[in-house]
Amino acid sequence: MEQVVIIGTGCAGLTAAIYTARANLSPLVLTGTQPGGLLTTTSIVENFPGFPEGVDGFELMQKLQKQAERFGARIKFGTLDSVDLSVQPLKLMVDGDPLETRTLIIATGSSPRQLGLDSEVALERFGVTYCATCDGALPQFRNQPLVVVGGGDSAVEEATYLTRFASKVYLIHRRESLRASVIMQHRAITHPKIEMVWNSVVTEVLDVAQKKVTGVKLKNIVTGEASTLPCAGLFVAIGHTPNVKVFGNQIELDDHGYINLKGGTRTNVAGVFAAGDVADSVYRQAVTAAGTGCAAAIEAERYLELLDNP
Ligand code: NAP
Repeated sequence: MEQVVIIGTGCAGLTAAIYTARANLSPLVLTGTQPGGLLTTTSIVENFPGFPEGVDGFELMQKLQKQAERFGARIKFGTLDSVDLSVQPLKLMVDGDPLETRTLIIATGSSPRQLGLDSEVALERFGVTYCATCDGALPQFRNQPLVVVGGGDSAVEEATYLTRFASKVYLIHRRESLRASVIMQHRAITHPKIEMVWNSVVTEVLDVAQKKVTGVKLKNIVTGEASTLPCAGLFVAIGHTPNVKVFGNQIELDDHGYINLKGGTRTNVAGVFAAGDVADSVYRQAVTAAGTGCAAAIEAERYLELLDNP
């Protein structure tokens, strides 16, 4: 039986792994479908403390993993199929194999939100993407006009990044002001290659028949006017949804679908803790994820101590 199983290898999961490994709990850490988490899809992370020149997201996550492994964390490629949290020890099914653990740290993060258009789904991987840093340099996007949707830091960051490759970047936002931080807004709005398209939503991605993105249909939500904007790629950056599906109704969620914490990183189930973006609809930063990963590890350690020495 495991003492600690950690689900997720983003900043939260790997920091929890470092702390629980250093506490001699030999944590088992499951990677899930995105080893290294969302930061591996970012280029330079400029706001993680300790890196005055910034740090490559992929490199940062590799270093966190090495650090955890150095102290005895066991990283396993695997996806959680189902859980039974009504019993102690907690029962997990991982890629068809049963597993028992005394504590569980959920650090499953969040996944990119979709616009919800049929044409978006049909053209995914044919010019519709959710990660500029992963796909922006692809030949099909070079020297072409590209469209980014969203008004937060992600959209602005993606639009700015894409100016390296695109002939022009249109940033489509459904309101007339951005939600992004002031410094990032300024970078985008003053960039000669970025054109803002305010008060507008994408109603269709063209062209499903050709099986490639050739443009987007837009609707101005103030005037009702419809238009078509030719482009070679659509980059959707409208936020994320927490990854909680596998827990069904066993873990209590808040109104936004994030895990509801009961003080610290405790969930509604004894021995189950949550850290990082899956339980954070407010800050969603790499450093806050790392911080809550640390907290979850300490709380799991104390929980086990109390069980063993009541
Ligand atoms: P976000 O802040 O939640 O912004 C999502 C944006 O997408 C909003 O502008 C929203 O519009 C728009 N949107 C949502 N649903 C939409 C829909 N169906 N159709 C059209 N537009 C839609 O998400 P985020 O930009 O991914 O940022 C998440 C967190 O990560 C934030 O805390 C951010 O500061 C942080 N972050 C930081 C950095 C950095 O510092 N380098 C980089 C990326 C992200 P409304 O404005 O109208 O709601």
